[in-house]
Amino acid sequence: MSNSSSLKSLVGITDKLNRPVRDLRISVTDRCNFRCTYCMPAEIFGERYEFLPRPEILTFEEIERVARIFAAVGVNKLRITGGEPLVRANLSELIERLSSIEEIEDIALTTNGYLLPKYANELKEAGLKRLTISLDSIDEEIFKKMSGRPQGPANTLEGIKLATELGFSPIKINVVVQRAVNDHTLVDTARYFKGTGAIVRFIEFMDVGTKNGWELSEVVTSKDVIDMIGSEFPLEPVDPNYTGEVASRYRYKDGDGEIGVISSVSEPFCGSCTRARLSTDGKLVTCLFASGGTDLKEALRSGQSDEEIAEMIGGIWTNRSDRYSELRSKATDLYVGAEGDKVEMYYIGG
Ligand code: SAM
Ligand code: SF4
Ligand code: SF4
Repeated sequence: MSNSSSLKSLVGITDKLNRPVRDLRISVTDRCNFRCTYCMPAEIFGERYEFLPRPEILTFEEIERVARIFAAVGVNKLRITGGEPLVRANLSELIERLSSIEEIEDIALTTNGYLLPKYANELKEAGLKRLTISLDSIDEEIFKKMSGRPQGPANTLEGIKLATELGFSPIKINVVVQRAVNDHTLVDTARYFKGTGAIVRFIEFMDVGTKNGWELSEVVTSKDVIDMIGSEFPLEPVDPNYTGEVASRYRYKDGDGEIGVISSVSEPFCGSCTRARLSTDGKLVTCLFASGGTDLKEALRSGQSDEEIAEMIGGIWTNRSDRYSELRSKATDLYVGAEGDKVEMYYIGG
C-alpha cells in the first residue's frame, strides 16, 4: 500500500454537509439463506432470481485493497454485511486480512446468525471483535413469518449463546419492528435478553429499496417502543457512547443492561452520517437510499493505482450531499409511493 502524499492529502476530507468519511460498510454477498419479508421477499427472490455472477463479485484481495485505501483517507471502522455475509465462503480469511490494516480500530459483522454455530469460533480466531445479530422475534411463528424460512430462531439463539461464551462483546441484537407483525412480541424479546449482556436494538422499519412494499403505517416509532418496553421494565436514557451514534441508548433502571432504538424514520440522523458503502460488485454507494453507486471494480481491475482510486473516492465524497431520511421526514408525502430505483438493502447491506 502506497503512502504517497496524494493519499495523505485526502485525510480529513468532508462532504458538502461537512461530514467526514469514517465508516465503510462492505457487502460481501448479495445472497442470503433467509427471505425476510421486509428485505428479500420470497415471491421476488425465488428459484429463478438471478444473483450476481461470480466474476462481478469483488475478491477478498480487491475488498482488502479498497479497505486499505479508505483507511488511508480516514476510515477507522469497518462493518461486514450482505446479503448474509456468512454464506460467503471462507469469510474468516477476509476478516483476517482486514484485521491487519493498521488504521482500522473496529471490525464488526452483521449477520442473521443462522450459521454462527458453525463459524463463530473461526471468526473469533480471525480477529473479529464485534457482532450484530438480527433476530426479529423470539416467538417461533413470528420469526418464521418474518425470516421467510421454515426454521424457528433456535440456530440464531444458539449462535448468540456461543458468541457470548467466546467473548464477543457487546453483542447487539437487531430487531426490525413492523406494526401488526412483531410489535406484540417486543417485550418478550427484550425480556429474553435482559441481563445477558446483549444489547437489543429496535429499528424502525425503513423504506429501503423498492421491493418490500413499505408503508408509513407499518412503522412503529422508537418512542412507542420505549413506552411499550418501559411500561414493563422501567428505563432511563443514557448518553451516547460517541457523537453520531446511530442508536439512542436506554438502560434498565434495575441495572440489568441496556437497549437501543434506531429512529431512522421518525428522527433521522443524516447530519452525522459518516458511512460509505461498498456493494458486493464494487460500487461505492454514499447513502442507504441511493439509486446507484460509482463503479470502483472497473478502476481496481484496469490497473489504476491506489492514488488514482483514492482520488476517485475523494471526488465522490467531497460531492456527497445525501440526506434522504431527513428530506423524507420533512415531506413525508413526497416520498411515499415514489420509490424510483433505489438500491436494495441486500445489495449494500444496511
Ligand atoms: N443478513 C444480515 C442480517 O440480516 O443481519 C446482514 C444484512 S441485513 C440487510 C442488515 C440489517 O438490515 C439487518 O439487521 C436487517 O434486519 C436490517 N434491515 C433489512 N431491511 C430493513 C428495512 N426495510 N428496515 C429496517 N431494517 C432493515
Ligand atoms: Fe437476509 Fe439479512 Fe435481508 Fe434478512 S435482512 S433477507 S437475513 S440480508
Ligand atoms: Fe446516511 Fe443516507 Fe441514512 Fe441519511 S439517509 S443517515 S445520509 S445513509
